[in-house]
Amino acid sequence: MLAHRKSCYCAFCKTPRKVYAHKHLTTIEVVSLVMLSIVVTYSIYHTMDPRGLFISATVLIVAEIFTHMKWRTSMICRSCGFDPIVYLRDPEKAGLKIRAFLDRRSESPLNIMRAPIGQPAPAQSEKLKKGENLSLKM
Ligand SMILES: [Zn+2]
Repeated sequence: MLAHRKSCYCAFCKTPRKVYAHKHLTTIEVVSLVMLSIVVTYSIYHTMDPRGLFISATVLIVAEIFTHMKWRTSMICRSCGFDPIVYLRDPEKAGLKIRAFLDRRSESPLNIMRAPIGQPAPAQSEKLKKGENLSLKM
């Protein structure tokens, strides 16, 4: 019920991973942040002060921005760099980002001993030629 993350598989490399389930603040989080703002307002001004609304709004805006950034960064696969949000908007750009990520990964000495990722195999009739753009084949 209160699980913040859900398990899934990367659509590109099929690596199991976890992503944040909520893109925005949940109702429980909003209520708890408003209560926190009331406590902070009461501790600062020793009464219910209208400036507490400003504190409450600031806390909610910061929490919403943080929640959205957390969700957005969890969408990108750490194994292959596949970004499903970019893929939905522009598949070719998503393919270029994967290519750039894999190039950076292959050049980094930290990944020498890492297992290679499972890239989707091209169909027999669509074998890639050397130097051909992978994103155009998806
Ligand atoms: Zn992946």
